Amino acid sequence: KKDSMDSGVAGLRDQHLNSNNKSCSGCTDTDSSEIEVSSGKTTYLKGKFLGKGGFAHVHELVDLSTRIVYAGKIIPKNRITKPHHIQKIAREISIHRNLVHKNVVRLHHFFEDNANAYIVLENCSRKSLFHVLKHRYSVTEPEARYYLRQLVEGVKYIHSQKVIHRDLKPGNMLLSEDMVVKLGDFGLATLVDGNKKVSICGTPNYIAPEVLNKLSYSYEADVWAIGCILYAMLVGQPPFETASLKETYSRIVNNKYTIPLTVSENGRKLIRQLLQPLPENRILVEKINGHDFFKNVYTPDTLSPLCCYTAPAFN
Ligand code: ADP
Repeated sequence: KKDSMDSGVAGLRDQHLNSNNKSCSGCTDTDSSEIEVSSGKTTYLKGKFLGKGGFAHVHELVDLSTRIVYAGKIIPKNRITKPHHIQKIAREISIHRNLVHKNVVRLHHFFEDNANAYIVLENCSRKSLFHVLKHRYSVTEPEARYYLRQLVEGVKYIHSQKVIHRDLKPGNMLLSEDMVVKLGDFGLATLVDGNKKVSICGTPNYIAPEVLNKLSYSYEADVWAIGCILYAMLVGQPPFETASLKETYSRIVNNKYTIPLTVSENGRKLIRQLLQPLPENRILVEKINGHDFFKNVYTPDTLSPLCCYTAPAFN
């Protein structure tokens, strides 16, 4: 309902997360590309379009006082027509705002005006692993270890905060200017409250069998998705992808996939441990970065942005 949105997204009005709170003073929204968005104290200049999500369009937002560039998820209020939409956004913000880690996109500021809600995020200027795989198809094993290691650090952290992401996939592994992996999009995330979850959500290709089978599930569903992501990085497509959703689901619940022999033996071993059909048999997230896949082999500490487009020559 519009009323509840106007009185703040479920009470989350103007949350400046690392400075003083101030109430909004409005926004001058026109079609010009240089729009100033103001939340009382902070004024942002709306710049380049970065991407589109469910309700949101994402633009660069430049803080005019510091010149720091953020990614602003802008959610038009006239698109939020149902109370559960408001709840969903409020939930995303209330979960995301408490997460502070190098491998998680930082939620810097949340505010709203009459027209929009604004989620001001750490900017990830190199897009995401999805874009890397789009250009590269697959990546080398040292690069896969680089991305995997940081994905796992991010997931270990959010799990320690009792958060299940539930939609881990290459498109939600954002990349900062210096190619650091940042987990993003907490739109489907949930807080673990002791009761295991039963609702179905996630992205078809990366969804865990216990979620599809409507069984209770927990943190292990994220570990399954990590397995699908590692497979996709090394093979070029996710393990259960087919032209039909029904067939994909059937393959997931029957654990039907093959790993090409181009993948190293330890790579194949780790994928199998991540894609265990029973969640209790899956490798623990804490153990992934100590797996043999990482032993006595090279894992880069940094990656050149050129790796978004071409395979590096490690030497
Ligand atoms: P939704 O949750 O509505 O699906 P997303 O969070 O997936 O929206 O964002 C939509 C698109 O915006 C992403 O695919 C990405 O291209 C861009 N984007 C989102 N967050 C950032 C960010 N922090 N930095 C840079 N681009 C971003």
